[in-house]
Amino acid sequence: MFPDEAEEVREFSREMKLAIKRVVVTHAHGDHSYGTVHFPEAELIAHASFWDFWKEIKEVDREFFARFLPGFEPPELRSPDITFREELRLDTGTEIFLRHTPGHSPDSVLVELPGKGVWIAGDTVIPIPLIASGSLFELLGTLKGLLKRFRGQTIIPGHGRPLKGKAARAAIEGNIRYLEMLRERVGAEIERGSGLDAVLRLDPEEFGISAGNMGGLGLWIHRENLKKAYSELSGKL
Ligand SMILES: [Zn+2]
Repeated sequence: MFPDEAEEVREFSREMKLAIKRVVVTHAHGDHSYGTVHFPEAELIAHASFWDFWKEIKEVDREFFARFLPGFEPPELRSPDITFREELRLDTGTEIFLRHTPGHSPDSVLVELPGKGVWIAGDTVIPIPLIASGSLFELLGTLKGLLKRFRGQTIIPGHGRPLKGKAARAAIEGNIRYLEMLRERVGAEIERGSGLDAVLRLDPEEFGISAGNMGGLGLWIHRENLKKAYSELSGKL
């Protein structure tokens, strides 16, 4: 979140005559966590593994965003005020549940508003799943769990537009299909004795990925996923 976006949120809260008392951060990746610095007065809520995960990725993450967004100076984050492990119910007048949804990252959190039928998914549901700093198996487990509990909720993905009804279900199902294909195709290569080089040469089109996906980011994400799947499935780093 950039300063102008934070100001938009502030403007909205002023119009609604609401104070911003709490900020939930869905995970530590910079594109989701740097915005917290614009709300120093609010209590910061995150998963119990957020801070340790942040310390682990901090250098690489800051360098990535400084390069990706020339002129952007990644800010220093602060540790959360409130953390939880499995689930947290917030007492706000509107029913809000935070649930641990590991896989995209170890600290990923999904924010549920049951009364409104809305799931704010962070990067747990995005156009192409990214497991580089998480786990193929964990994300598969998380998404299958979400699909079981899905009752037509609107999903606000970490990237892309809100998804309603059938489109929301299709997004979860599509993410699961992609990850299962990763598991099968990379697993088959490992069984055949292939190394990472051969895995990286698999045709991205087979996985439904082309240069046009996510504004060119698709191929990069897919390549990172192949590396992670190879390391998880082969046990080699
Ligand atoms: Zn992320």
